Amino acid sequence: MDGNAPNRAFAHRHLLGIEGLSADDIIYLLDLADSYFEFNRRPDKKLDVLRGRTVMNLFFEDSTRTRTSFELAGKRLGGDVINMSVRDSSIKKGETLIDTAMTLNAMNPDVLIVRHPDSGAVELLSQKVACSVINGGDGSHEHPTQALLDALTIRRRKGRLKGLLVAICGDVLHSRVGRSNIHLLNIMGARVRVVGPPTLLPPEIERMGVEVHHDMEGGLADCDIVMMLRLQTERMHGIFVPSVREYFHFFGLDYAKLAAAKPDALIMHPGPVNRGAEIDTEVADDITRSVIPEQVEAGVAVRMACLEAITRNPSTEFDGAAS
Ligand code: ASP
Repeated sequence: MDGNAPNRAFAHRHLLGIEGLSADDIIYLLDLADSYFEFNRRPDKKLDVLRGRTVMNLFFEDSTRTRTSFELAGKRLGGDVINMSVRDSSIKKGETLIDTAMTLNAMNPDVLIVRHPDSGAVELLSQKVACSVINGGDGSHEHPTQALLDALTIRRRKGRLKGLLVAICGDVLHSRVGRSNIHLLNIMGARVRVVGPPTLLPPEIERMGVEVHHDMEGGLADCDIVMMLRLQTERMHGIFVPSVREYFHFFGLDYAKLAAAKPDALIMHPGPVNRGAEIDTEVADDITRSVIPEQVEAGVAVRMACLEAITRNPSTEFDGAAS
């Protein structure tokens, strides 16, 4: 473990990103999530931490894991959970977002979980409502609960985050998961490498405090964690890779490339997995190396911790304090 939970509440009204959180904030959420991880394996999984509270899932983009696990998290904590998915492309995005936010705000929810295809949209929405907002992924900007669940998975397996060597591989350019993980791992003292073709790495990514590699063998050498990212074709405008086949040849994770990492290196992927594009199907399913199902399990625990922390925070009593 990285330390004991600080003896104070989580002092943020919203959870919009990992950037801006302290190591203590992250440890606080991970410690709480750790207890929920065990709790979720019990036959009786119902608490009343959120009794009387209303949680709304507002998803402007598709989701399987994030939406379902927030729903489960809210229900296991005893809250009322409403799901809304919004796909109305005929209305201008900005108007849809603000109009919808104002409508939902009028129903007095306590927490809004928002996913939106535009970077920054969730923060904008958080300025218009009276309740707490959790970012369920905004464009290629941030996906804070994914980074937290990845950190919980790593910490449970390796006992720490500090000092680990983590390779984040693939389409870092379009990935909110990659960006949130880089922030979190840096804050927690891990060493981060990004590995991918120049077309899929953001320009000047070194400024985020990462090492840059353009080949898998060098990038994975001696790594403790190999985190694969999906090719985010829905965010690509133009040609970023010559073909999926060629991409897999150079950057897809197979056993030959994995051999460069430490023998006990963990394989991670946020899902959905594109088998044969960024990862070989056998490697993805290798229960001795891949922790992909455990990441999903950690996701429910982390989202329970985030919901509890946000609703416990005194500033959610609507004193107007910013996050
Ligand atoms: N599910 C993650 C996200 O929403 C990763 C992905 O879609 O590739 O960003």
